[in-house]
Amino acid sequence: MQLVYRRILLKLSGEALMGDDSYGINTGVLDFVAGEIKEVVEAGVEVGLVIGAGNIFRGVAGASKGMDRATADNMGMLATVMNSLAMQDALERIGVDTRVQSAIPMQSICEPYIRRRAVRHLEKGRTVIFAAGTGNPYFTTDSAGVLRALEINADVIIKATKVDGVYDCDPVKHAEAVKYERLTYEDVLTRGLRVMDAAGIALAKEDRKPILVMNMKVPGNIKKAVFGEPVGTVISC
Ligand code: UDP
Repeated sequence: MQLVYRRILLKLSGEALMGDDSYGINTGVLDFVAGEIKEVVEAGVEVGLVIGAGNIFRGVAGASKGMDRATADNMGMLATVMNSLAMQDALERIGVDTRVQSAIPMQSICEPYIRRRAVRHLEKGRTVIFAAGTGNPYFTTDSAGVLRALEINADVIIKATKVDGVYDCDPVKHAEAVKYERLTYEDVLTRGLRVMDAAGIALAKEDRKPILVMNMKVPGNIKKAVFGEPVGTVISC
């Protein structure tokens, strides 16, 4: 079997790291995800990772309680660094060489984001976790994921979710929900499908970077995806 995607940018929501907990990082989930990443790294795939922070803190939540939005967003970005360090720890424990690069420099705990250096790490087979989103308030880690994917020239953005792909309505609430196999960026934007924020979709569209939305909870799914097996929903032109 041949690899279809040699370099991927995997976007993981913070909530995915919570597992069944109501807050924070579930180490069981962390270890599971690390194992899934290890499988594809061993298959020869270069992996970039962007992790959100919904399990710890989201800027909009702070702002809705009266906090200054930019300050709250800065806190959200710092929370992504915590998730990134936790994921690095889980990956390195199972022997996956990993570097964390933060868009907000904090050199005593991780590298600053330097694009060319990140690409070099990837070429050497190291997994690179891009922390602190874009480094700017008013953005999300979805947009950060697409941005980094474009910068490192990843073949695809894999957006890991709790369901098998993009549906016409919420499959958790509606048994009759229909899954799309393929969608265009335009479909997502005009139908208001909640896949990724509009800024991220627009950015991917501009560079024609495909997005694969798939379920990460199913063991072996990322590996299937990189070998071109039909998992999830592909969003492209
Ligand atoms: N954030 C930000 N700029 C970025 C990325 C993230 O300000 O470029 C902040 C924002 O407050 C956001 C939080 O970090 O709510 C966590 O990211 P996100 O909500 O995307 O996490 P996810 O929903 O993927 O868990």
